[in-house]
Amino acid sequence: MERKFTTAIVLAAGQGKRMGTKVAKQYLEIKGRPLLYYTLKAFEESPLIDSIILVVKDQDQVFYCKNEIVDAYDFHKVDTITVGGKERYDSVWNALCALAHTMPEKAKEGYVFIHDGARPVVTESILKRCLENVEAYGACVAGMPVKDTIKIADETGFAASTPRRDLVWMVQTPQVFDFGLIYRAYEDMESAKSVWETQGLKITDDAMVVETFTNKKVKLVEGSYENIKVTTPDDLTLAAAFLQDL
Ligand code: C5P
Repeated sequence: MERKFTTAIVLAAGQGKRMGTKVAKQYLEIKGRPLLYYTLKAFEESPLIDSIILVVKDQDQVFYCKNEIVDAYDFHKVDTITVGGKERYDSVWNALCALAHTMPEKAKEGYVFIHDGARPVVTESILKRCLENVEAYGACVAGMPVKDTIKIADETGFAASTPRRDLVWMVQTPQVFDFGLIYRAYEDMESAKSVWETQGLKITDDAMVVETFTNKKVKLVEGSYENIKVTTPDDLTLAAAFLQDL
């Protein structure tokens, strides 16, 4: 079977407030190169990925990324660098619209790998498992079963319940979908925005958009415990160590 066209949406439009640095976390350096370089490199070098849409915060970052990362390291697969939005889901929606309006038909008939720019330790084997599962199920996300017991807390900070540990996963990216499915799910989410925003619904990943706005089931795929999202300064040291092992 011929593989469908694949586009990676790499999200780097966040502020990274929890890092506590002036520079957004995706531009902090590991061994002299910005963190985002390692993330883009994984997709650039993968034979499973055809094209990349990079999402950044503003026009200054578009210029910076084009000159200092994309051109500097010859990342030919980066077709588009676009500006994101206030929330992660706004950034994803902008990228999906860019794909719909600027990419060839085969991209719209293919798959999208939505990935956090702040997860530089994504590997070829994760991408391969994700592709196999999106081909089989149309929607899948990388994640790992939790090692610790998880508690659901009440609003006052007391344990309210304990879910079965064997059914609890921590979810990562890539989150991978048939383009038509994720585009329609986001479109429905956007048109109902005022409703769910007033209900206080917080959309924190793409699978949630599919779960909430379609009937499609999202398959959980083994990611890796090293596929961390760099969020706090400790994570930067960890990511540097994990990247060393690749
Ligand atoms: O904020 P959080 O750590 O969940 O962000 C996950 C990824 O989404 C990061 O790579 C960040 O740059 C990106 N993001 C974005 N647009 C936003 C917020 C986050 O592209 N408005």
